[in-house]
Amino acid sequence: MRLLYRVQPGVRPARSARMLDEVDVEEVLRRLAAAHPGRSPGAKGPKGQPDAFRSCIACMLSAQSLDRNTAAATRNLFALARTPRAMLALDEERMVQAIRPCGLYNMKARNIRAFCAALLERHGGTVPDTREGLMALPGIGRKCADIVLSFTFGHDVIAVDTHVHRVANRIGLADARTADATAQQLDQHIPVWAKRDGHFWLIQHGKTICVARRPRCSICPVRDLCLWLQTGGAAAAGQAGINNG
Ligand code: SF4
Repeated sequence: MRLLYRVQPGVRPARSARMLDEVDVEEVLRRLAAAHPGRSPGAKGPKGQPDAFRSCIACMLSAQSLDRNTAAATRNLFALARTPRAMLALDEERMVQAIRPCGLYNMKARNIRAFCAALLERHGGTVPDTREGLMALPGIGRKCADIVLSFTFGHDVIAVDTHVHRVANRIGLADARTADATAQQLDQHIPVWAKRDGHFWLIQHGKTICVARRPRCSICPVRDLCLWLQTGGAAAAGQAGINNG
């Protein structure tokens, strides 16, 4: 195993030292691809939406919301309006009531209106297919932009949610405090062939083996490369007897 920076044995390295080099990054991704092949059965675009406009809206509604609540809010809202113009024509109180299940509904309603107005004014109502274009629109951050680029437009982009962020940092594919910073690092450091499906491999790995509280390191296909394990993460987390799941 090679590190981008030298680490003293027995000393937990500073966060900036915790990244694998490009050879090991590729090897980790190859093994995760073999262990979790393809996209999850039934995996759809962001929140299952069929077009870029609805994907953006669904992504905005999903902030700090459980999937089932986001699903209820999107279902309610798209039953009333499915285009930027129809959304702007919608009575504000009706919009708020429709999206109430996903929380933060007043702020989200304001963002949706601002997003629709800017989309019409700058792009004639068509969602742009570049990160810069998407992130320049109100309410669209890096995560939403990358989800829409990857799922709806099919670009070679790795979308980073909290699960991808956690697993990527644990293994040493990234060393970042926020999901957006992890997205930037993965964009720079992982090979193009791994960008689209890497999202699924890391999520599947995080759900089945590298689970948050008690990772199943003894059956992990990347245990000889994982920096969290190699640099004492298990002991630090009070898991000297590594859990088999
Ligand atoms: S070795 Fe453990 S911590 Fe590292 S990726 Fe595997 S399950 Fe996660």
